[in-house]
Amino acid sequence: MKRAVFPGSFDPLTLGHTDIIDRALPLFDEIIIAIGTNSTKKYMFSLEQRKEFIKKTYADVSKIKIDTYKGLTIDYCKKNDIDFILRGLRNPADFEFEKAIAQTNRKMSKIETVFLLTSADTSYISSSIVRDILKNKGDVSLLVPKAVII
Ligand code: ADP
Repeated sequence: MKRAVFPGSFDPLTLGHTDIIDRALPLFDEIIIAIGTNSTKKYMFSLEQRKEFIKKTYADVSKIKIDTYKGLTIDYCKKNDIDFILRGLRNPADFEFEKAIAQTNRKMSKIETVFLLTSADTSYISSSIVRDILKNKGDVSLLVPKAVII
């Protein structure tokens, strides 16, 4: 069984995330969207809210599971029998950052990271821009799935 984890903060889920998830669906038997929790990081949305956005968006997709985790992604993978980490690449900064992490993970385990290049029409979307717009009471309906519009 080809099982991948898509780890992230998803604070909140955006159309950039769903673009990567939707395009990865044909590649894997199961994709676990795993919300990483870091006690030193401040989030705009609670863990429950972030989970709920993903749950609602993918309610009808049986290949998608949702989970939360603490600690290293490779430890989560080992514990849950996952061979692939899925990540999206938007720009050279993402590439440099992700390269070091993927190579380190590869050194420490047999887990392969699979990168999908962002789509041209969602490459500019990031959770941090969405949060800024929300803080200023702006409209994010073009940037996030319907479940996130609150
Ligand atoms: P993290 O804190 O782990 O970066 P994010 O929720 O910001 O968590 O992102 C999770 C994953 O989604 C990352 O691989 C990131 O590159 C990818 N991603 C986010 N936005 C986009 C986008 N617009 N296009 C492609 N990939 C994206």
